[in-house]
Amino acid sequence: MKNKYDVLIIGAGPAGLTAAIYLARNNVNVALIEAKTPGGKISEQSKIENYPGFNSVSGAELSISMFSQARENGAKFIIGKVISIENKDELIKLIKLDNGLLLESKYLIIATGMQNIIPKEVINIEKFNNKGVSYCVVCDGPLFKDKVCGIIGGGNSAFEEGNYLSSIAKEVHIFVRDKIIAEQRLVDNVEKQDNIFIHRNAQVLKLNGTSSLDSADVNIEGNIFNIPIKGLFPYIGFKPAIDFIDQNLLKLDKKNFIVVDENMETNVPNIFAVGDIISKSIRQITTATSDGTIAAKIINNRI
Ligand SMILES: Cc1cc2nc3c(=O)[nH]c(=O)nc-3n(C[C@H](O)[C@H](O)[C@H](O)COP(=O)(O)OP(=O)(O)OC[C@H]3O[C@@H](n4cnc5c(N)ncnc54)[C@H](O)[C@@H]3O)c2cc1C
Repeated sequence: MKNKYDVLIIGAGPAGLTAAIYLARNNVNVALIEAKTPGGKISEQSKIENYPGFNSVSGAELSISMFSQARENGAKFIIGKVISIENKDELIKLIKLDNGLLLESKYLIIATGMQNIIPKEVINIEKFNNKGVSYCVVCDGPLFKDKVCGIIGGGNSAFEEGNYLSSIAKEVHIFVRDKIIAEQRLVDNVEKQDNIFIHRNAQVLKLNGTSSLDSADVNIEGNIFNIPIKGLFPYIGFKPAIDFIDQNLLKLDKKNFIVVDENMETNVPNIFAVGDIISKSIRQITTATSDGTIAAKIINNRI
């Protein structure tokens, strides 16, 4: 009985938190399940400048205020990683967590967003995970104060976070394998910093070190260089976080994003999906909060 809820939301990013706010304000018994940090991807962003109401806000600040709003309105919060979901019945959904907890709800909202793609072709990339390799500059950048760091990628995340890292690290090397696809404004900002070096046609081949990352072998325009990088941040893209989903249960698109209707409902009645995890073209905080609003309002009408 203790583990039964009206609505369970998997993922406490902007999409899940918004749904929680709308449901909790309607006195629905709702809980958010989160494997890492409330706020989701925004908690890892240095600066957000396009969320209405804020000229510029840190990701941490926006995360905390969304999370506090959900909590203050009565949403419960459960820490754990969901490893499976089961559709027992129209109004019985079973959710299993990696810590052994089994939860039950009438309605389920999947808001798990996307996860980082690991550049597996880089030799030793997993050996140095959290020992020099990190996927979050905001979280781990300060560990590399006054050290030489690298970023892999040519998109907005690589350039935005590279710029931020340059305020902490001694030098930042951005390795772009194909071409720069970041917005010109972000590239201009990076080019203004004299401790950032952009390397085109560059591929990180191998990471070296004993207990932590000490250097990287990089192929730059056909020549191999050994660069004394102590912190490496790959930003080469994301994939949908669907590991816990039985692909026979939910309809996915070709890229493994969840297909929903205009109410954010999946092919399974009373299982909804919102935010970056769904099949759509624009993935932003505003679209995530919009999806969360829609799912919550539809559920509020059904309860
Ligand atoms: C570097 C970067 C910069 C960005 N900059 C901007 C910007 O300036 N403006 C903007 O509007 N958008 C920006 N975005 C996009 C924006 O962050 C996303 O669109 C938004 O966070 C999506 O929200 P979400 O709630 O769908 O997913 P997420 O924010 O990804 O949250 C999903 C949550 O689900 C959790 N989760 C995943 N799997 C499980 C599981 N099995 N069990 C439990 N919990 C789980 C995750 O830990 C995470 O907390 C940026 C994204 C990145 C990566």
